[in-house]
Amino acid sequence: MARYITPHSLAEALQILGQEEHCLPLAGGTDLTLLVRDGTVQAECLLDISKLPELIGVQEEGGEIRIGPCTTLADVASSPLLPAALRAGASWIGSPQIRALGTIGGNICNASPCGDTLSPLLVLGGRFRLRSASGEREIPAEAFFLGPKRTILTRGELLVEISLPLTRSSSQDERRSAFQKIGGRGAQTIAQVNLAISAYWKEGILRQPCLAVGSAAPTPIRIPAVERILEGQRLDRELIAQASLRLAAEIRPICDQRASDRYRRSVVQALFRDALASLTGQEAYS
Ligand SMILES: Cc1cc2nc3c(=O)[nH]c(=O)nc-3n(C[C@H](O)[C@H](O)[C@H](O)COP(=O)(O)OP(=O)(O)OC[C@H]3O[C@@H](n4cnc5c(N)ncnc54)[C@H](O)[C@@H]3O)c2cc1C
Repeated sequence: MARYITPHSLAEALQILGQEEHCLPLAGGTDLTLLVRDGTVQAECLLDISKLPELIGVQEEGGEIRIGPCTTLADVASSPLLPAALRAGASWIGSPQIRALGTIGGNICNASPCGDTLSPLLVLGGRFRLRSASGEREIPAEAFFLGPKRTILTRGELLVEISLPLTRSSSQDERRSAFQKIGGRGAQTIAQVNLAISAYWKEGILRQPCLAVGSAAPTPIRIPAVERILEGQRLDRELIAQASLRLAAEIRPICDQRASDRYRRSVVQALFRDALASLTGQEAYS
């Protein structure tokens, strides 16, 4: 049976993590407790970081938005400071009970390719601050994921902050964003594919588009080839058809019990069109 420890501060948590060899951080526990219970993960101690005030909350500071990793998914979904794609990604996770307990940091560090906040973080320019008892580093979200359930976190290191750049440009245009997901049923479902997009949108033209897809490769991935097709272009039927086909060709989906690779390549194109419609405020792009 694993020991359960509740540190009183972030400094104490980092000290314990540095000293104890088989100690795992526990946030909401919606992923970790299941893995410990069925023996997939062995832990001698669980360090409950979920109540540390240093790790909770969303605020605008120094030209960016800072999110504490122990902010619950429910609070991410309802924060007016956060961009639409991230709020939507969080709001589509599990059930109200899961979102009340589960955290954005847990979703990130669990590193599932289908994690619903990950593709939004990739298109929103997310950066992660990692800290241990001996130092700190900051990396772009894209560099964090190594494979299913594998990240660059080393022993003793915690994710202590997620930051997003403020998206207003000098001309006061706002970077817009959208998220789409499909699963085996309408609600409480793990994504067969999810997709996030962000871009500046003015007079029918997309600028600086960023596109990312989840559950379509061992990690969530950006799709630069499609971003290049969209950059500076007027959105019309021909352009969307060209970009959709390229998107289907670029992803590397697996075939598993949730969906075949063929289905994922097909459905990602529909999600892409729906996300573009949501971003540009159109009813639909067929
Ligand atoms: C019924 C059900 C439905 C679900 N549906 C979805 C879904 O639709 N979409 C989806 O994306 N996920 C889903 N999940 C998975 C899960 O709820 C989310 O991944 C959630 O965000 C995990 O957060 P947590 O706080 O519970 O993480 P925990 O379980 O506490 O931790 C997860 C992992 O992250 C590590 N960790 C946590 N915080 C930190 C930190 N700050 N620094 C370093 N490591 C850390 C832990 O050690 C552990 O390895 C579902 C889970 C269940 C049980």
